[in-house]
Amino acid sequence: MFERVLEGIRDLFPGSAGTIPLHAPWFDTADEEAVMACVRSSFVSSVGEGILAFEQELAEYTGAGRAVAVVNGTAALHAALVLNGVGPGDLVITQAFTFIATCNAITYTGARPVFIDVDPDTFGLSPRALERWLDRECRQEGDGCVHVRTGARVRACIPMHTFGHVAHIEEIITRCRDRGIAVIEDAAEALGSTRGGRHAGTFAPIGTLSFNGNKIVTCGGGGALLFEDPELADRAKHLTTQAKVPHPWAFQHDLIGFNHRMPNLNASLARSQLRKLPHNLAVKRALHDRYRELFADGPFRLVEAPPGTSPNHWLNAVLVRDRQERDTFLQACLEAGIQARPAWELATDQPMYRDDLKDDLAVSRELQDRCVNLPSSAHP
Ligand SMILES: *Cc1c(COP(=O)(O)O)cnc(C)c1O
Repeated sequence: MFERVLEGIRDLFPGSAGTIPLHAPWFDTADEEAVMACVRSSFVSSVGEGILAFEQELAEYTGAGRAVAVVNGTAALHAALVLNGVGPGDLVITQAFTFIATCNAITYTGARPVFIDVDPDTFGLSPRALERWLDRECRQEGDGCVHVRTGARVRACIPMHTFGHVAHIEEIITRCRDRGIAVIEDAAEALGSTRGGRHAGTFAPIGTLSFNGNKIVTCGGGGALLFEDPELADRAKHLTTQAKVPHPWAFQHDLIGFNHRMPNLNASLARSQLRKLPHNLAVKRALHDRYRELFADGPFRLVEAPPGTSPNHWLNAVLVRDRQERDTFLQACLEAGIQARPAWELATDQPMYRDDLKDDLAVSRELQDRCVNLPSSAHP
C-alpha cells in the first residue's frame, strides 16, 4: 500500500541518504562565521549589538513597528500575556488544535485556557465558533467580557497560524475588540506568511514568533514579540530583561521581571538565518508545488493555503480518511525511512487541560485524526 506515494516523497529529496527528516535546519558557512565572530567578540550573552540589530531586521522584514527578541516562543507568549495584564482567575481563549506551548504559556500566568474550535480552511481559530461561544456563555460588564457561570474575566485570546497558514485573523480581532478582549497572535509557525500582503503576527497589537530548531528560521532556541506600538515594545523589553532600571551601576528593578532575553550568540545566528529566509521560502514553495503534483490523483488531499494568503509552507500536510488509515500510513512512512508525523493530540485530551472550559471541537478532532505532516525541509 501507498508505494507510489512513498516513492514519490523519496524522489522529492534525492540528496537524503538515510531517513528523510520532517523539517531539518540548514546552516552554511555564513552561519558558522556569524557564530564564530560572536564567540570571538566574547559578547555571547545579554549584551551585544547582534540583539538590537536582529530586532531591527526582524521588524523591517515583517513590517512590524518594533520587535523584541526573547529566549524562545513560549517565553514570548508568556510575556505577551503578562503585558496584557493576564493573571490568576482570568480566562484566555485559544484553540485545542495547537502545540502545547500556547496553552502552557496561559497557565504560567495563573489564568486558565478556554478551548474553541478551528476553521477547516485555515486550521486556525474559527471567528464564528469564537463568536458563538462568547454570545452563549459570556456577557459584557463595563468594558470587559465576563464568563457568566464562573464569573471569570475573559481577558485575552490567542489564535495560532497553524503550519504557517494565516488564520481569519481580522475577523477574530474585530470580535475581540468589540468585547474588550486582547488578541495575541501565536505566529510561531508563520514567519514569512502573509494575508493580503500583511505579515502574520502584525494584525493584533502583539504577535509572537519562535526560532526553535524545527522552525523556518532557527537559532537553536529563540523567539520574538512583534508590536505596532513602540511604548508597548519598550515595556516588553523591560519586562523580559529583569525590569532593571537603566543606570550606570545601580541594581534597581521596578517590577518582577523575567530573564526571557535572547543571548547575543543566538541573535548572531538568527540574523544570518533571516538573510536566507526569502531564498528558503522560494525553495519551500517549489517543494509544495511538487507535492501538489504528487497528490493530484490522490490518494490523499494535500492541504492548501486559504485564498488571499501567501503561506511559508512550513509543514506540508495531507488529510487521510480516518485515524486508522493515518496510523497505517505513518507506519508505512516509518518503514520507508520517511519522517511523517500526525498533528498534535488536542490539548483537551492532555491531563492538565482535561477539565478546562471548551466548546464543541468537531473540526479539531477531525484534523487530529486525519492530518499527517510530510517532510518539508528546504535543504534536507
Ligand atoms: C514552536 C511553537 C511555539 C513555541 O516555541 P518555542 O520556541 O519552542 O518555545 C509556540 N506555539 C506554537 C504553535 C509552536 O509551533
